[in-house]
Amino acid sequence: MQTQTTISVTLKDGSKKEIPDGSTGLDLAKSISNSLAKKSIGLVLNDELKDLTTILKNGDRVEIVTQDDPRSYELLRHSTAHVLAQAVQNLFKGAKIAIGPVIEDGFYYDFEIPNHTLTPEDFIKIEKEMERLANEDQKFVRVNIKDVDMQLNEFKSQGEKFKAELLEQYKNENPTLYVLEDKSGKSVWNDFCRGPHITSTKQIKAFKLLSVSGAYWRADETKESLQRIYGTSWWSKEELDGHLNKLEEAEKRDHRKLGRQMDLFSMHDETGPGLILWHPSLAFVRKQIEDYWKELHDKNGYEFVYTPHIAKTDLWNTSGHNEFYKENMFYMSVDEQDYVLKPMNCPFHVLIFQSRRHSYRELPIRMAELGTVYRYERSGVMHGLARVRGFTQDDAHIFCRKDQYVEEIKGVIDLVDKIYKGFGLNYFAELSTKPKDAIGTKEIWEFAEAGLEQALKEYGLEYKINPEDGAFYGPKIDFKLKDALGRIWQGATIQLDFNLPNRFDLKYTEKDGAQEQPVMVHRAIYGSLERFAALLIEHFAGAFPVWLSYKQVIVMPISDRHFEHAEKIFNLLKEKNIRANIDLRAESINAKIRDAEIEKIPYMIIIGDKEISENLISVRARKKRDLGSVQVDKFIEQVLSEIKDKTIGT
Ligand SMILES: [Zn+2]
Ligand SMILES: [Zn+2]
Repeated sequence: MQTQTTISVTLKDGSKKEIPDGSTGLDLAKSISNSLAKKSIGLVLNDELKDLTTILKNGDRVEIVTQDDPRSYELLRHSTAHVLAQAVQNLFKGAKIAIGPVIEDGFYYDFEIPNHTLTPEDFIKIEKEMERLANEDQKFVRVNIKDVDMQLNEFKSQGEKFKAELLEQYKNENPTLYVLEDKSGKSVWNDFCRGPHITSTKQIKAFKLLSVSGAYWRADETKESLQRIYGTSWWSKEELDGHLNKLEEAEKRDHRKLGRQMDLFSMHDETGPGLILWHPSLAFVRKQIEDYWKELHDKNGYEFVYTPHIAKTDLWNTSGHNEFYKENMFYMSVDEQDYVLKPMNCPFHVLIFQSRRHSYRELPIRMAELGTVYRYERSGVMHGLARVRGFTQDDAHIFCRKDQYVEEIKGVIDLVDKIYKGFGLNYFAELSTKPKDAIGTKEIWEFAEAGLEQALKEYGLEYKINPEDGAFYGPKIDFKLKDALGRIWQGATIQLDFNLPNRFDLKYTEKDGAQEQPVMVHRAIYGSLERFAALLIEHFAGAFPVWLSYKQVIVMPISDRHFEHAEKIFNLLKEKNIRANIDLRAESINAKIRDAEIEKIPYMIIIGDKEISENLISVRARKKRDLGSVQVDKFIEQVLSEIKDKTIGT
């Protein structure tokens, strides 16, 4: 047999490249160009992210991941987590390491540290040690664990119980160790890990530790409690600074913080976690978005219904929720009868549909409800308004014939587009297809998926496909919203359902008298009003457009002698249904302006001697914009048109 001295690999562009047998990804990069080799971080080898130093095999498909590739950050951040772990073990005697995965824009690492509670003050020390380790130019070297028992014993003798437990768990899956070697090739530290990593710690140049919190080993409250350090890592100082600025801005906009500052909503120990009390100012926002929703749904042929908050378990047995949604439901017992607080509105709408016979001529039926649902969430995952236990869905269910299905979906997409435009929000769509554990026939899935795709195409909306990410009972379109900081929020969903029509045996009468099952579509556009409110608060940083502002205008007389005229202006605004307020406190005008700015009131009207003598008003918009003197009528006209047109950006 002839020895092969070269191998052939396929590059990203489909071209083939001959390289010496035994070459690594880095060798491949060098053989293409030195500048490429310099920027190379890792590989995507046959669709899997790998170390740059992986030895290539004949026939491999190789894509070189450079610093410009978003996937390179995964390697950098995860590797930074290892350096963090090494630093913590160097600094805190007896610290044991658990896991250190990558998260969005960063990483964390979990530690068990005897007799020391980490504080942000420790970060300076740890960061300094990390910098020292990075400068040591330690190499990440992948080692196959051949003798698992020996390695287990070593971990155990080091007291590394978490590593030992993980190795025990993965011992039959070709476990690997990553050894960090100093310049002389001596092993200085190691961690049980699958990789991949960057090549050298020297590539870690711009990182920061952000926060510390408590965690449990394997997220299990009965197991060891750990300390979790969060951090972020970037290729350059500029990128890091940009990210830190964004975090700072996000913190300023945090809806929980603004919620307190602006008196928007509250939660109380007495009510329990995840149950929201909407205060008047945010309740007004909600009323506006509900009215807008009702107006558009009315125009688009939806009919409104109301359904109760609880139902006997019988209903949830039929719907299947009592079986597959049990962990998320609140149960109660009254008169020896079990009830469930509704986690979804769908079964009620199905009952309304079923309460009489339907002919093909009546379809589509579009049934809408702002329905409040309750779902159990673990207390640890609750987050302000964004993740709660009780929330209101802007829910609707469409029951239609197969030949109406594509048009119905297009109609929903159009409604989503209209509604989001009212808030000036950008969005994108994702189509999730048949998962592995799906119910329903191949034909029905093909019909449903093709219909959603056709609707997206005919509407002209770009979309990404999430393969196998649909629900077990049908495919769906998800809409993701982008806020002012570029963060992504879950928005609308359009969901096909083959399950409920079967379970409730839904029927309508076809032209020829045959009994047919209608197509059932679930859809929500805001999703949850609570989460949508959180998005609006953070997107606008609390400075809502005029149409959503609880206080739209505030009239501020400079001193007592201007009160009368100020009240006249105030009454004029009120008469025109503008939400006006008046500040008659004995405060200086500057104090009044400052307070109105904190409240983020869109317009301030200042009344003094000059304004009275000229019969004009001085107007200031929030964010310190002086709009000068204008006639009251003109101003009223402008505010009214901003409200009517839902103008953004006052
Ligand atoms: Zn690792
Ligand atoms: Zn539903």
